[in-house]
Formats: sequence, C-alpha cells, structure tokens
Amino acid sequence: MSYTEQMENAVSAFRALLKEQLDRTEKMKNAAPAVDYAKKEHIRIGICGGDGIGPIIVREAQRVLSFLLQEEIEKGRIELFEIEGLTIENRLEKKEPVPSDVLAAIKTCDVLLKGPTTTPKGGTMESANVALRRELDLYANVRPVVVAEEGIDWIFYRENTEGEYVLGSRGIEIEGALAMDFKVTTDLGTRRIARAAFEYAKNNGKKNVAIVTKANIMKKTDGNFTAICHEVAKEYPDITAEDWYIDIMAANLVNPAIRSRFEVFVLPNLYGDIITDEAAQIQGGVGTAGSANVGDAYAMFEAVHGSAPRMIEEGIGEYANPSSILKAVEMLLRHIALADKADKLASAMQICGETEKKVVVTGDKNGATCKEYADYVMETLQKIS
Ligand code: NAD
Repeated sequence: MSYTEQMENAVSAFRALLKEQLDRTEKMKNAAPAVDYAKKEHIRIGICGGDGIGPIIVREAQRVLSFLLQEEIEKGRIELFEIEGLTIENRLEKKEPVPSDVLAAIKTCDVLLKGPTTTPKGGTMESANVALRRELDLYANVRPVVVAEEGIDWIFYRENTEGEYVLGSRGIEIEGALAMDFKVTTDLGTRRIARAAFEYAKNNGKKNVAIVTKANIMKKTDGNFTAICHEVAKEYPDITAEDWYIDIMAANLVNPAIRSRFEVFVLPNLYGDIITDEAAQIQGGVGTAGSANVGDAYAMFEAVHGSAPRMIEEGIGEYANPSSILKAVEMLLRHIALADKADKLASAMQICGETEKKVVVTGDKNGATCKEYADYVMETLQKIS
C-alpha cells in the first residue's frame, strides 16, 4: 500500500478513536455514585488466580481472607466466589484479553482479588488488567508505600483508565516509515482522580499533594491534567498542591534528604506505573506492595508484581512471596468498610515481616514457602485476636 493510502487509513482510524473517546466521556457523566459498603447487606468477593505464581499466592491470600472473614462468611454477609478462566491459555484461545464469560462472572462481584496475569509480548493482545480497568471503570490505582523508620508514608493515586494505556493497542503504522501511539487525557477522567487524591488527603490529615507530570513537554495532555488538578485543589484550601516533573520526582524518591516530605501523589497513568514500582522497591521490593484499582461501582485488589514466569520455569513458584497480595487483601478489607479486620491483618504482617521475622520468604529454596508464610500470618492473627 502506498504512503498516501496508509495515511488515509490512519486518519480514518484516528477519527474513530476520537469518537470513541468522546463517547467514553459521555458515559462518565452518567456514572452511578460510589457504593457504600458499610450499608451493603451482601458483598461478593471474586477470586481470580491469574497466571504464573498467581494461583499460588492467591490460594494463600484466600486462606487468610477466609480465616479473617469466617464469621461474615458463615452468616452469609460475605461470599468468596472463585472465578476460573482468567488465564493466558484461555485468553489466547478466546482471543480476548478478558474472555466474555469471565468478565460476566467478574461483574456479578462487588470487589475482586486478582492474581497477576501474563501479557503476551508483542502482538496486539491487550493486557487483562488494562481491559479490566476499562470494563469496570477502575479509574484510580491506589498504592500505599510505608517505610516507618525513614519517615516515608506515601500514597500514590495513579490515573488508571487513560493516558497511553487506553489506546496502547490502537496505534498507527506507516509500514517501513513510522509508528505512532496515542495518549488521551479527558477533563472528567482527570477531575475524578484528582478528587480521589484530594479527598484522601483531606480525610487522612495530609497537607501536601504532589501533581506529577511532564507538562513541560506533553503540553496538551499533561498540561490539562495539571490545570484540572489545580482547579480541584482550590476546593481544598488547607492542602498544598505542588507541581513536579516526573524525572525530578524519580530522583526525589531516592533522595533521603527530601523524600519524607511527600505525602499524596496524583499522576497520569504511565508515570504512575513507573514510579510506583520505584517506590515499592524503596519499601523492600515489588513483593511487598499492594495495589487497589478503584472505581465507583467495582474495585480490584492485586499484588504490584507480575506473574514471575521464571519462578515457575525454575520450579520455585511455591517459594513466591505472598506479602504483596496480602497487602492487597488488607486494602480490600478497608475498601469494604471492615477496617478492624484490615488493621488486624496489618498488625500481623508487621509482626511477621518486620518485628519477629520467624519465617522469612526469599523467593528461592533458601527461604520459606508461600504456604509456610501464610500459616505464620494466620498463627499470628490468632495470637493477636
Ligand atoms: P514480575 O513482577 O513478574 O517479576 C520481576 C522480578 O520479581 C522477577 O525476578 C520475579 O521472579 C520477582 N518476583 C515477582 N513477584 C515475586 C514474588 N511474589 N515473590 C518473589 N519474587 C517475585 O515482572 P515481569 O517479569 O516484568 O513480568 C512477568 C509477567 O507479569 C509479564 O507478562 C507482565 O506483563 C505481567 N505483569 C502483570 C501484572 C499484573 O497482572 N498486575 C503486573 C506486572 C507484570
């Protein structure tokens, strides 16, 4: 095909994208208000194992969750609902990032505990996470990072449904000449993530929100993101809103002289993706961080790390660290208004992972297995109850 023909095709593809994105903002206008879990009579928690080490860590997280929620499960207020089929094999066979029957099952749940899912390299198969974030409109990726002894108490509000990711498989190519991907920032999409970050700051006594972009270069998308965050900030006069560029913020996080002054971060999708892994590493590695993907109707909780396929290939999957998915369980409990249970789990994890350390997971055969660590957490939970 000639360059001219390819350009014409690209322009039509772009027109369709614009229309689609405008339709998405229309849907956002009609979104239902957030669920009040404290008042909800029945809560269904979906459980998806995922790929690689996913089923191993999720199995242990489910045991801990059942243990903590024993009474609520017996009374029928809470139901744990296992969902099969969110596997790379099934996704490739069905040629869908989340097969439609799996998505339908997920949509019968209120919240989801999900193991990491493998994304095939290259090709056009979208990541299951990107698809789930879009389908369930999980617009806020919330990741806390705490290193108490260094005065670090950060929480990241990463925009989850826009930026480079929403159109990541929809780029255009003029064969042999160029390739172009797209990034989108909508007003409503930015406003709701900004509000989530400032509301968190207000409700938790935080005084500083860092707005992190590359607005000096990405003038339209990041420029609008920054401007809208500042508009929202005006409604929170007790909170300081500061602009930072992502490059210097990446440096700030490893600078002990200033990093403890940051509290809440609000960022577009790609920067949030990168910097939250950096922050997790400062906390002790991606195995130690939890992640919540929150929308108004649904929420999904998972580990920050991926499916660690190499651990499976090397036959050491059973030695995977469940700390990250257990942090996700803690966040899930908080989200469904069971803060007392979440606090209990947080205390047990603090004892197991920081103060006592009687059982240590190293990610290889020199350490404990995932199951041994979960047993240790449950024994500790019993002692502190
Ligand atoms: P990864 O997080 O799977 O692995 C990075 C390193 O951390 C590896 O050395 C791995 O062995 C180690 N590791 C990860 N989790 C661990 C645990 N619980 N205990 C001990 N060690 C652990 O990252 P990757 O290799 O870049 O990605 C593998 C696959 O996971 C890819 O297909 C990627 O797309 C996918 N992924 C999924 C998610 C998700 O579903 N949320 C997130 C990130 C990556």
